[in-house]
Amino acid sequence: MHNDIKTTCPYCGVGCGIIVSPSRDGQVVGGDPDHPANRGRLCSKGAALIDSITAESRDDFRLETPLIDGTPADWPTAIAQTAHRLADTIARHGPRSVAFYVSGQLLTEDYYVANKLLKGFIGSPHIDTNSRLCMASTVVGHKRAFGSDIVPGCYEDLEIADLVILTGSNLAWCHPVLFQRLRAARQKNGTKIIVIDPRKTASCDIADLHLPLAPGSDVALFNGLLAWLADQAKLDHTFLTRHVSGTEDALASAHADCPDIATTAQKCGLSRGDVEQFFNLFADHARTVTVFSQGVNQSSSGSDKVNAIINVHLATGRVGLPGSSPFSVTGQPNAMGGREVGGLANQLAAHMDPNNPFDVDRLARFWNAPNLQQGEGYKAVDLFDAVATGEIKAIWVMATNPVVSLPDTSKVRAALANCPLVIVSDVVNNNDTLKYAHIKLPASAWGEKSGTVTNSERRISRQRPFRQGPALARPDWWIMAEIAKKMGFDHGFEWQDVAEIFAEHAALSEFENDGLRAFDIGEWAQTGKSLKPRYDAMAPFQWPASRHYQPKTGAKRLFGDGLFATSNRRARMVSLRYIAPRSNTSPDYPLIANSGRYRDQWHTMTRTGTVARLCAHRPEPLLEMHPDDARNCDLGDGDIARITSHQGTALMRVSLSPSQAVGQIFVPMHWNDSFSSASSIGQLVAPHVDPLSGQPESKHIAVSVSRF
Ligand code: SF4
Repeated sequence: MHNDIKTTCPYCGVGCGIIVSPSRDGQVVGGDPDHPANRGRLCSKGAALIDSITAESRDDFRLETPLIDGTPADWPTAIAQTAHRLADTIARHGPRSVAFYVSGQLLTEDYYVANKLLKGFIGSPHIDTNSRLCMASTVVGHKRAFGSDIVPGCYEDLEIADLVILTGSNLAWCHPVLFQRLRAARQKNGTKIIVIDPRKTASCDIADLHLPLAPGSDVALFNGLLAWLADQAKLDHTFLTRHVSGTEDALASAHADCPDIATTAQKCGLSRGDVEQFFNLFADHARTVTVFSQGVNQSSSGSDKVNAIINVHLATGRVGLPGSSPFSVTGQPNAMGGREVGGLANQLAAHMDPNNPFDVDRLARFWNAPNLQQGEGYKAVDLFDAVATGEIKAIWVMATNPVVSLPDTSKVRAALANCPLVIVSDVVNNNDTLKYAHIKLPASAWGEKSGTVTNSERRISRQRPFRQGPALARPDWWIMAEIAKKMGFDHGFEWQDVAEIFAEHAALSEFENDGLRAFDIGEWAQTGKSLKPRYDAMAPFQWPASRHYQPKTGAKRLFGDGLFATSNRRARMVSLRYIAPRSNTSPDYPLIANSGRYRDQWHTMTRTGTVARLCAHRPEPLLEMHPDDARNCDLGDGDIARITSHQGTALMRVSLSPSQAVGQIFVPMHWNDSFSSASSIGQLVAPHVDPLSGQPESKHIAVSVSRF
């Protein structure tokens, strides 16, 4: 068994451990029984990874050589050309005319180098990531409540809780191994489960109560709960007095918004009985975990929804305790790793703040970075708007397909088509975004590259290579470091191995860390001969992992001691009022479309769409709608329908579903140009964003539906 390679699944934020073993036919994958995230389990996507690798071995699949304006080039030429064009753009238009748009598919070390190069050396703050579409609202919610972007709980909490609330989370399809763990715990312990979701999803199969709330009304529901808990004398006043600020104002807002069960039920479109049952279940189970995901985040009030959830946990002292916490589950395999190195336009590396002059100064000194500026860059939607207006003259897209995944994709396509310099690093040779690239750079794929990822419970795991890619494919960090050096940044990018980047990242995490920044993995800030063997042998671990804050090292949970990451160590409750979603129905657009994942597909299907057995689950995109709505639209099961929003149109086959509420339809998010450009739903989504997080409202789109 010494040829077995332990690595991590490249798909969702559960971050399952995988063992790749040699077999007679090549290689097989199995779940790693020693990985704490999955303990040997895999879902359908993880189990099919070798199939996807086999499909990716096709001659026409991979981007095999650098291409400059369509002409093949060797790496020295590609590096020189890319560096020259970037430097020329900076010389003529200034550093802020350059932007990077990166991805939760990047490894942490890749992400670290991208941020260091753009923010620290080029001097542009405009780097954002497709994680903006995933969990940016949670980052805001965590920072407002806890003082830092920290997930207090861990996966084990779902197994020891007495009550698990899934809100805006179809865990069964989007985080299947976590769902398997929850289902097993329910069978063993009788865990109560509540699903809060406008749709009746597969997660409802194990629910004791399903609350099909009106789309977007989450703040009203949790405000109602907070007000009711206060009225019933169910708050933890000792915890609030010692550890929380803002309680009185938050309670006053909650009471003003939803003073009683009747008002809450009316605002949320629920029955009074269901609301009462939910409130009583919450009150009666101290060990409560509230899991939230994209249904909460992808909203024009996503940040408020996150804080509404955290408010009730703070008010009852249920944070960071065994089986008791609010818990954000991220969509991507490395959304958390990106947050650790400042992958968002409103973050700096090591969870520092671009608006804090002390953090900017600290980071500039650590990097010896000549051009680091104070202030935030453009978030994803604004960033592509700046490309459209010509303010951004050069954009480098890495490992993501924004032409499909962003809102208002027609505008994104036009922006890229008119951008003077579009650089795309990718694994595939043909995706929707590559069509707009002047420079295409072949990146190494999963299974070929080395680095780390961080899952939803703050656990850092290694991705290890086990196969050779195309001869000219290179790791993203190497591509950026070579171009940085060619641009004249002759210090700061001299790493010989990815382990050295991780060690630098770890050293930064403990550099002048005053203890309020819990992201501290200084334990790994090691150099010298033993670095690489230690990195290669790294077992999964949770941060913090610090030489200076030993009591917290390896802690499964944070904040259980009531000490938070704010300057006064108190958590903050946030005063909130329900705000309706930005897209409203009208006579022209009378239905609300909700978008989401299929169980066996991933993002824009560039990988999972190549695997026959994964496509068998849902071979085509289906418009799920209630039979009454279908009748009103003169549509029957199997008909092709045209979906029209203010932004654009899409075509899909109708699937009648009594699980859909009347007035609401569901559409999958995955289809792209290669599979069916007519079914890409990015063209329907309006660029309405949460004003604080910049996260688009992808789950509430006003549409009309008609026969095609
Ligand atoms: Fe991969 Fe997520 Fe499935 Fe685990 S649950 S095998 S991380 S897709």
